[in-house]
Amino acid sequence: MSWDDFAKHATEAAEWGTRYHNSLRDRPVRAQTTPGDIAAQLDTHPPETGTDLGTIMADFNTVVMPGITHWQHPRFFAYFNSNAAPASVLADFLAAIIAPQCMLWQTSPAATEMETRMMEWLCQGLGLPDSYQGVIQDSASSATLAAVLTMRERALNWAGNQHGLPGQPTLRIYCSDQVHSSIDRAIWVAGIGQDNLVKIRSIGALRSLDRIALQDAINKDRAAGFLPAGIIAATGATGMGACDDLEAVTAIARAESLYTHLDAAWAGTAMICPEFRTLWAGADQFDSIVFNPHKWLGAQFDCAAHFLRDPDLLRQTLAIRPEYLKTHAQGDITDYSEWSIPLGRRFRALKLWFLMRHYGMEGLRTRIRNHVRWSQALCARLAAEPDFDIATQPILSLWTFKVARASDAHTQRLVDAINDDGRIYLTQTLVDGQKVIRFTAGQFDCEERDFDTAFDTITEIARAL
Ligand SMILES: *Cc1c(COP(=O)(O)O)cnc(C)c1O
Repeated sequence: MSWDDFAKHATEAAEWGTRYHNSLRDRPVRAQTTPGDIAAQLDTHPPETGTDLGTIMADFNTVVMPGITHWQHPRFFAYFNSNAAPASVLADFLAAIIAPQCMLWQTSPAATEMETRMMEWLCQGLGLPDSYQGVIQDSASSATLAAVLTMRERALNWAGNQHGLPGQPTLRIYCSDQVHSSIDRAIWVAGIGQDNLVKIRSIGALRSLDRIALQDAINKDRAAGFLPAGIIAATGATGMGACDDLEAVTAIARAESLYTHLDAAWAGTAMICPEFRTLWAGADQFDSIVFNPHKWLGAQFDCAAHFLRDPDLLRQTLAIRPEYLKTHAQGDITDYSEWSIPLGRRFRALKLWFLMRHYGMEGLRTRIRNHVRWSQALCARLAAEPDFDIATQPILSLWTFKVARASDAHTQRLVDAINDDGRIYLTQTLVDGQKVIRFTAGQFDCEERDFDTAFDTITEIARAL
């Protein structure tokens, strides 16, 4: 394809995008296909000769689109929203066209310098002290892995990277029983082992880790010859939004000299609104904090903001400088590949720049506030219906419910029936061992009427089942 043809096809794709977004409310949110439907329409061998873009675009519409679950649908109330605000989509489109590799300052100075500035903007936006420095990771999972590796190497005085883990003391890392599976996976990948991720029971309405049990576990581990290395806390964990008592966690971490990492992948975005910051009081004492602008804030996937109190600890853990990566620039430069596990890096800062400039922090705050208000109003409406129980009260825009006295099997049937209906999309979770339905709001362009549709859909289908 010539770049002259590119302009024509790109214009068509942009127009297609406008039609797609304008028609989302008429589509079922969750794909209504069965396993294998799409694979059956894809050739089993790669083509030997080329095909014109018009044919490929037509196939895209008929083959691919029926198998899409519409994550940008205004009535997507499942998982956590993964937004792609149009301004950030445009930035990512431009980044895809320029396609720079942003591993070193020298390989893309604008990307590096913008990344530093965007992380400063986000730091201010969240009300964190300006002593934090930041890096954009591809995902919260990667940021958490980087933090776990830092915990490991700091505790072993950097012997793990050099000698491997055999012969080293057995490390222990602590978290609550509410944390996201990415924490477990980081522990596996870091070679620490599931047995050494100590999950502390969570208590209270916010399901915070029990500080007495935490201190007790650390004491017992030390007595047994283990080496405590760090604590991972959560603000807005995935199941029902659990929030740890961050002041309690950092007090223990300070006394025990443990590295701390905070997973606020979803809820971090809400901290652009000062009134929600009580949920993470004490966050400013953490060594490492991650939140995903690619979730609630509106930045096109992927974009995970990782704040560090002392980036040198991370750099000491991850930086490798073979000769071919050495640059000899003058002055104070940052090579962000030393802050992350992959070497190659996309130009992710550009979509943050477009996003924050176009909507303004006030525009972004208004969206978050609306989502929280509309979601909590829906919760109150459902609570007033005699045949529904609220299982966990809203934490920001996330709450869980079930039909009163329903069995787990009945609850699952209701979730499936709602998703087959297609007007809204929800998922289930376990709370205290019981299956409940999870509701979360955060789609960038959702409106109050979408919550009315949610109410009608849930009550109609529940009563017909
Ligand atoms: C989404 C989420 C993650 C994982 O985020 P990725 O960027 O997909 O790795 C981790 N923790 C929490 C609390 C999340 O909501």
